Amino acid sequence: MESASCSGQELLAWRRRQLLRGGRAVDLDWLLAMEANLSWAELQRLRILPESTASLASSLRDLEKLWSVHLQNHVPLQHLVGRCPWRDLDLQISSAALIPRQETELLIDFALDCLQEPQAAGCAFVGRWADLGTGSGALAVALARALPGWDGHAVDLSAAALGLAQTNLNALTTSGTWQLHQGSWWDPLQRWWGLFDLVVANPPYIPSQVVEALDPLVRDHEPRQALCGGEDGLDCCRAILERAPEALSPGGWLLLEHHHDQSDQVLGLMRSAGLVLSRAHSDLSDVKRFAIARRPL
Ligand code: GLN
Repeated sequence: MESASCSGQELLAWRRRQLLRGGRAVDLDWLLAMEANLSWAELQRLRILPESTASLASSLRDLEKLWSVHLQNHVPLQHLVGRCPWRDLDLQISSAALIPRQETELLIDFALDCLQEPQAAGCAFVGRWADLGTGSGALAVALARALPGWDGHAVDLSAAALGLAQTNLNALTTSGTWQLHQGSWWDPLQRWWGLFDLVVANPPYIPSQVVEALDPLVRDHEPRQALCGGEDGLDCCRAILERAPEALSPGGWLLLEHHHDQSDQVLGLMRSAGLVLSRAHSDLSDVKRFAIARRPL
């Protein structure tokens, strides 16, 4: 991509033209920030001082091409740019894995909060975490960075997703205490049975019929395998919970993300699996999106 500069006026006129073609302003501004390195603050400055110069890391022609593919073929901008900001990370993204969602960022905060609880001896103890269905590796990267020295395990069924997770783990972590495993949920983790202190998962949880009705941007471009949780959406939650009580260490924590209307069901499944202290947490839109429980001590 060639870099370019133009006046603020030209850029703002170009932006208006693009939006007349369709799409959302917030997405076009995301593209300008991610691909042309033009921050929202800089865009604001150009609105106030339209005569001043805008420096772009990419030409308007190249940006326009990406915007056209996004509009015409409903391709997510994250796929076109190949990156996505998530928490404090700049993750590499491809169609091999789910694009990390903003709501999932909170799962890490809740996971780290669990380690502060009285019986958990704080983050200072060195333990073992797992991320089941790691996809792009977002959760695994965040855990590896927050818990250096811990033994980390990221699992995914898809070899392509694991390749992406490996790229992100290599680029964004300095400790080498993580491993990747190809397989279904707990299957590749038998060697560490009963030894997991903290396990997170954002499994596919959308009911199959609902997947069909999703925005084409999601439905046609993100891996079905990462979205569809079977008829009621809970197949993967069940598969994870069935073996969680043996896989976790005594007192070990399990945190699951789930669909907007699955809180009661997932908490019920946690209790029937024999986990204790189950509780719900909400995302930033106040939707009960996370379920947390632990193996009895
Ligand atoms: N939150 C995602 C969505 O709404 C789905 C993620 C998942 O199934 N784990 O598209």
